[in-house]
Amino acid sequence: MTTPRRVLIMTAHPDDADIMAGGTVARWIDEGHEVHSVMFTRGDKGHDDPGMTPEQVAAMREVEQRSAAAILGVQRLTFLDFKDGELAWAGPALAEAATRLIREERPDTIVTHDPYGGAPTYRVPQLHPDHRAIGYAVVEACYFRAPGPLYYPVHAAAGFAPYRVREILLIMSDHADHVVDIASTFALKVQAVRAHATQFGNHPDVEGFLRGLATRAGAPFNTPLAEGFKRLTPS
Ligand SMILES: [Zn+2]
Repeated sequence: MTTPRRVLIMTAHPDDADIMAGGTVARWIDEGHEVHSVMFTRGDKGHDDPGMTPEQVAAMREVEQRSAAAILGVQRLTFLDFKDGELAWAGPALAEAATRLIREERPDTIVTHDPYGGAPTYRVPQLHPDHRAIGYAVVEACYFRAPGPLYYPVHAAAGFAPYRVREILLIMSDHADHVVDIASTFALKVQAVRAHATQFGNHPDVEGFLRGLATRAGAPFNTPLAEGFKRLTPS
């Protein structure tokens, strides 16, 4: 039995982490690690029906995310109250929230979005402004704000000392250099992603979509089903 690692996932919307890292998360849980997943928004713009209100969508997506987390075994979920589509305008508040979470949780590993994705592939998920905004906020917090005692001294006064994260795994990256074999947890990942009914309820082939993602992620590493990450090690 290895020492349990503390993993803090910081993503923009419900479903981001399940699609990109659900198999890895299920493996971590199996191995006895502790996973806390934080969604900075409830994905309140994530519906194509103009008759829905953002509040209704947010409520539905929170329920879906709780179901998905239960399927994977994620021990803790937190929803912050930033608005879907507006993270790029939340600069100072977003930076402070990311820094505070890191100092409070003191994780061994952080999972977040790659803010530097988008060139040369310009894949749609990489172009989402929320994904970029939270990626920048979290990576900058890991390297500079969370370990720097002169940033937000109010945190230390509240009992949360500066902290340096040693490992960051970036999802949606064009520069993946770290791969996790998800053959043993792929079926669980499919179930978790299907729990996001507002996003995948009408999808003709969720399993095929995820199998394609996993096959492409694993191909450069000779791993049939994988999730790929860009790994950063701040020091
Ligand atoms: Zn997203």
